[in-house]
This record gives sequence, structure tokens and C-alpha cells, in this order.
Amino acid sequence: MLCESMCVSSNHSLYRVSCRSSELGHVLHVAADSIGSERVFACYLFELRITQIRVSSSAKKTLCAELGSMTMTSFILLAVLLTSVHVTTAGSAAHRCFCQVTGDLDDCACDVETIDSFNNKEIFPKLQKLLSSDYFRFYQSAPQVNLNNPCPFWTDHSQCGLKYCAVKPCTPSEVPEGLKSSSYKYSEAASQDIEKCEKAEKLGAVNSSLSDETLQALQEWKKHDDESDRFCMLDDEDSPESKYVDLLLNPERFTGYKGPEAWRIWNSIYEENCFKPYSVKRPLNPLVSYSGDDGQGFHRWLEGLCVEKRAFFRLISGLHCSINIHLSARYLLNENWFEMKWGHNVSEFQLRFDEELTEGEGPKRLRNLYFLYLIELRALAKILPYFERSTFHLYTGQPTQDNENKKLLLELLHVAKSFPLHFDETALFAGNKKEAMQLKEDFKRTFKNISRIMDCVECFKCRLWGKLQTQGLGTALKILFSERQIEAMPNTSNTNPSFQLSRQEIVSLFNAFGRISTSVRELKNFRSLLSKLKQ
Ligand code: FAD
Repeated sequence: MLCESMCVSSNHSLYRVSCRSSELGHVLHVAADSIGSERVFACYLFELRITQIRVSSSAKKTLCAELGSMTMTSFILLAVLLTSVHVTTAGSAAHRCFCQVTGDLDDCACDVETIDSFNNKEIFPKLQKLLSSDYFRFYQSAPQVNLNNPCPFWTDHSQCGLKYCAVKPCTPSEVPEGLKSSSYKYSEAASQDIEKCEKAEKLGAVNSSLSDETLQALQEWKKHDDESDRFCMLDDEDSPESKYVDLLLNPERFTGYKGPEAWRIWNSIYEENCFKPYSVKRPLNPLVSYSGDDGQGFHRWLEGLCVEKRAFFRLISGLHCSINIHLSARYLLNENWFEMKWGHNVSEFQLRFDEELTEGEGPKRLRNLYFLYLIELRALAKILPYFERSTFHLYTGQPTQDNENKKLLLELLHVAKSFPLHFDETALFAGNKKEAMQLKEDFKRTFKNISRIMDCVECFKCRLWGKLQTQGLGTALKILFSERQIEAMPNTSNTNPSFQLSRQEIVSLFNAFGRISTSVRELKNFRSLLSKLKQ
């Protein structure tokens, strides 16, 4: 838990110091670092989140023993002074999280307010309805099968012991029959098309006998072609280990997964897979000792990057931000024999996004969430022709529902298309052709690597949602950079389109956007909860 300590130096200047409760014993060293050579006169620990901070009495004693000499009068004066400071800062709690979450967004022609209103009124309700349908709620993955998908980077120690990390896979009887059939034949019409094509291929074939070697090469080729379109790794849907998970029964929420294991994942993503040189230090990186430049060096580096690499960082940061909003919005507030109470934890939100508690980083992260929203929204607008084809069905084997769901899906995509300030993806990879191609390949390789890192997330529930969201974002990127194939797509049933999405890609695309859309909606709730702190 983060706590705050106010320190007064010998010249009566006031310093505000953040520390973690586990590091409470060291608070004065931190304070001494911040104040430099000045003698720390007194520190006053105040609890921003009274229900949150459980400081052990021994830790408090250590702190008090270090407070140094102080008269009773100066202590009382100081306490009064600091209590009033606390009251004034709490009064602007909403402002401190949202001060920069307004107005124009960088690298695009859109603003926060337009997205808020569009999402909360137009997109969010429709999307929620769609995501509760059978087609979208059952996601096929291998989250519990460590041997099947081992972490390729280091030996992981599963946190399945954390009870909130457990994922309950579906029993076979819970999954609609239609979904259980071979994954890419998800539409009856599509399967008829495929049969026709197979027949046609046979009739036109000159010599269908291929050597084992050639067959093997062709399979590798196909795998390569499929993979080269993609920005992320997909679980093998045909693997017998792969299980269906009901996403509605396994919601993304607080799991208790944190500390060095979680940091290692985020660190490996930002340090090794976001184009950042090691010499540039990320602000507030918990795995690196305090760099002391308030993150300015990092932001200078970020601003100096080409727009594509900056966009990459902002997408990842937006995803990270969304995950942390969800765990704050569905936090375990109370647990007893009879019930578990989940709800908004305002202090947890402040810890992550309050300008002062995060040295200015929190609001910047919230802006990255909006950037991610724009990218995924744009992908939905672009993919409309794919779903509009008469041969496409959201097949679950329940025709009436399937038709209604398709209608709802198209309605949602038309709304997405009507958004007035879409992100212009043609600005990306636009320069010198050769360099742009190389950059695109780097972008793809790096994003694929991030999707592999998800197999190293030791908490199953976090892994499930982390994988789903990176797959969803990867699918959005695949769509954005397949414009020509999508436009050239035929509406007849006789031709197999060159652009394809698997069921897993479709489910992850919409559910991932559902997470971002819910995060934007949750920001409205947090704004309102924080503004009540004034009273
Ligand atoms: P972390 O969120 O772990 O962040 C580490 C460091 O990264 C911070 O100190 C800061 O320097 C930097 N940072 C933080 N946010 C951003 C940002 N938006 N942009 C850029 N830099 C940033 N926990 C749950 O309770 N439920 C979940 O469903 C869940 N899913 C997860 C999925 C994945 C893939 C991972 C890796 C973790 C998940 N976690 C989940 C854990 C959660 O994200 C945090 O790691 C954990 O709560 C500890 O938080 P923290 O405050 O120590 O900082």
C-alpha cells in the first residue's frame, strides 16, 4: 500500500513523500534524499485511505523512533497544519486524477469529451448486450495448461494458489453444440463454401499426389502466411487441451496478483518490447532505483520517437491502464462467510492515477487509454464489410438468436463507423516505403513477443484476460493494416475471401474493445466518486 508522509525540514519547508507501507521503516531515508542536505525536522504520516492502509504498530514505532526531537507544541502545530493540507488536497481529488484527461489527444484529431459521450451513450450499452450472447461469451483458450503453453522466457511459478486467480472452465454440456464443431467452420454457409472450393480444386488439379516433403513445406508455408498477417500468437483452438471459458462467469477484476511477479511481466514488456533503450529510465519503475529526473528524460525520449513507436508505447500503456482501472472498479471490498462484496475502490484508483501520488504519470496513462480506444474503434469501423457479407453468421446452432445477434453486431459496427473523429491510420507507416516496411515488421514482431509474454503471467485469471486483450488488440491492428484485402472482399458465396478472421480473433476483438469501453465508462463513475470526496 502506498502511504504519504509529510516532512518538514529545518527551514520549515514542507515536503511530501510517497512510500510503500512495506518500506515504511525507510521513509525517513526517502525524505532525506528528497530534501538533500537539509536536516529533516519532522515527518507526519497521514493516511489518505483510512480503510486501506494497515500499518503495523511495530512499523509505526520504528518511524516514531526516527522522528527525532520535537516539542509537544510544534507537534500539535504541525498536525493541525498537515490536517488542513490534507483536507485541501482531498477537495481536488477528482481534479488530480483527471486534470489532463480532457481536450485534444496527441497524435490524432480527437478529444476526450467526444469519446466519453460517444462511448457512454452509443457504444457501451449495445456492446454489453452483444458480449452477453453465447457467441461472444465463450472464449477458447488454454489458460490452465501450463505444459501446453509454457512461458518461453523464464520459469514461472504459478499463482494458482491465489484463490481469486482461479478460472473455471466450462463443462462440455455448458458450451452450445454449434461452437464445439471445428473452429474455423463456424458458419454453416462458410462450410458449404469450403466444400465447394475443395471440389473445384480437385477437379482442376493436375496431379494431386504430393511428396511428404512438399506437403510438409506447404503446411509450413500456410502456417507462415497465416502468421505473417497476424500481430499476435493465437492458442491452438484444435488442441485437445484447449478449453472453453465463460467470460461472464470469470470476470476481469481484482485478483491480488501483484509485487515482483507482476512487475516482471510489465517490466519485460516496457523494457524489452517497446523500442526503449535501457539507458532511458521509465518513471516510477519499481524494479529500478529512483532515477531522480521526474520522468522528464523518459518523456523527452517518447516525444522524440517516430509516431509509430510512440503509438506502440501508448497502446501498451493504455492496456495496462485499463487492467488497473478494472481491478480498482471491481475490487474485493469485503469478504465473510456469507458473501464477497466487490465494488469501486477509490483509494486504489487514486494510487494509480492521482497526479500527485504518481509524479504526474497517472493522468498521462489515462490519456493513453483513450488512444487505445480510438485505435480499436477505428478497426471496428473498418471491418464492417467483412461482417456484412450474407455468408457470414455468428453461428452457435441457435438460428433465431444467431440472426438477432448478427443484426445487433451490424448495428454496433454502423454506430462505430459514424464516429466523427476517427483515428487516421494512414499516417502510420507512411514514409519511405522500405523503412516503413521494416518498421511494420518490427512492430509485428514486437507485438507478437508481447502476446507470448502473456503465457508467463502466473495468475490464471489475469493471463486469460491479458491474452484475450492482446489478441483483441492484435486483431485490431491486423484489420487496420489489411485495408486493401477488406475492400476487395466479395459478397458472393462462391469465392473465399483472402482476408479471414478466426472465431478466436472475432471473440477477442469485441471482448477486448468491451474492456476498453467499460474502462472509459468506469472513469465516469470514478470522477463522480472522487468529486464526492470534497465533502
Ligand atoms: P503495476 O500496475 O504492476 O505497474 C508496474 C509499474 O509500471 C508501475 O510502478 C509504473 O512504473 C508503471 N505503470 C503502471 N501503469 C502504467 C501505465 N498505464 N502505463 C505505463 N506505465 C505504467 N491484477 C488484478 O488484480 N486483476 C487482473 O485482472 C490483473 N490482470 C493483469 C494482467 C497482466 C497481463 C499483468 C501483467 C498484471 C495483471 N494484474 C492484475 C496485476 C496489476 O496489473 C498490477 O501489476 C498489480 O496490481 C500491481 O500494481 P502496482 O501498483 O504495483 O503497479
